[in-house]
Amino acid sequence: MSEIISAAELRQLVGAWLVQGRRVIGPARIKPERVLFVPLRDAGQLLLDDCQRPANSAKEAVFPRHEKLYEFRFQGKQVEILDAPPPAAPQVVIGARPCDAAALPILDRVFNWDCRDAHYNRRRDLTTLVTLACRQHDRHCFCTSLGSGPGDPCGSDAMLYGLDDGNYEVRTLTEKGSALFTGHTHASDKVGLAGPGPQPVLDPHAVGAFLKTHFEDPRWARWSARCLGCGACACTCPTCHCFDMVDEGGAAGGAKVRNWDACQHALFTLHASGHNPRGTQWQRQRQRVYHKFHIYPQKFSAILCTGCGNCTRNCPVQLGLLPVLNAIQGGGRIAPGEAVR
Ligand code: SF4
Ligand code: SF4
Repeated sequence: MSEIISAAELRQLVGAWLVQGRRVIGPARIKPERVLFVPLRDAGQLLLDDCQRPANSAKEAVFPRHEKLYEFRFQGKQVEILDAPPPAAPQVVIGARPCDAAALPILDRVFNWDCRDAHYNRRRDLTTLVTLACRQHDRHCFCTSLGSGPGDPCGSDAMLYGLDDGNYEVRTLTEKGSALFTGHTHASDKVGLAGPGPQPVLDPHAVGAFLKTHFEDPRWARWSARCLGCGACACTCPTCHCFDMVDEGGAAGGAKVRNWDACQHALFTLHASGHNPRGTQWQRQRQRVYHKFHIYPQKFSAILCTGCGNCTRNCPVQLGLLPVLNAIQGGGRIAPGEAVR
């Protein structure tokens, strides 16, 4: 037996969550060709379209682009520090993909490693993630190469599986997920299935083994030659998490704020002296690959990538990660399953 909900009932339920004061973030069409995860104004905005995934990442729900950490006021020679009010509203992310959901446990490690990030963890505790299993994929998806897939429940509180009649099977995975759907579904014998997903195209262990010995490989410049350094790859990636902290304000006081940053930006590692240890774009591309397949795995025994394909899908020159990994596999003569020493 399964539990199902009709598309109309699901939309009604989303409307009820909004009325209850929850922030609900889901895919919405904001322009004819543009779908983004946005805080929904009403349930009618929600777009659960299997074919078009949002251009941005659901990470914005727990790690906003811009966030005030604390305020400060100068009074003579005294400085008064005022904590920013913590986020308080419970929120639901609906329509995330398995590759978005799988990114959250990856981010959890980063924001709880050397210190517990209060703002991130508060948002994470307030968030319930309702994931839509994928029935279709596009040419940029490579989740199956990284051990995930279109029905992967990792990171989700509940999953929706589209049925051919337009309704959804609901599988709750945590107490938070059950709390959203209990009493709103019907018993059924219909079972939703995720799609088969993309054929695996690379072996992440072989890539990791290659990186151990090829930091100085001259081909990095060729593999990354067309990169513009725009940072769209990192900003739309569900696992990228670099940020900068700056003071904003004036003589009377201001605020310490945290803004997203990206390793692909030329100023990211620029020193005050003028020296930049990653002074060329190919060095910055190399860093992104090393962070995801060598540095993060060394520290946390996991890969800093879910294979969502956003970095290539959103790249103005169709670069992102997968073409570089393909070049490593081909150019570095790594066959899937073969580790290079
Ligand atoms: S890989 Fe593409 S998206 Fe990323 S910085 Fe380079 S040009 Fe921009
Ligand atoms: S690196 Fe690219 S494919 Fe991997 S999680 Fe980030 S956006 Fe997705």
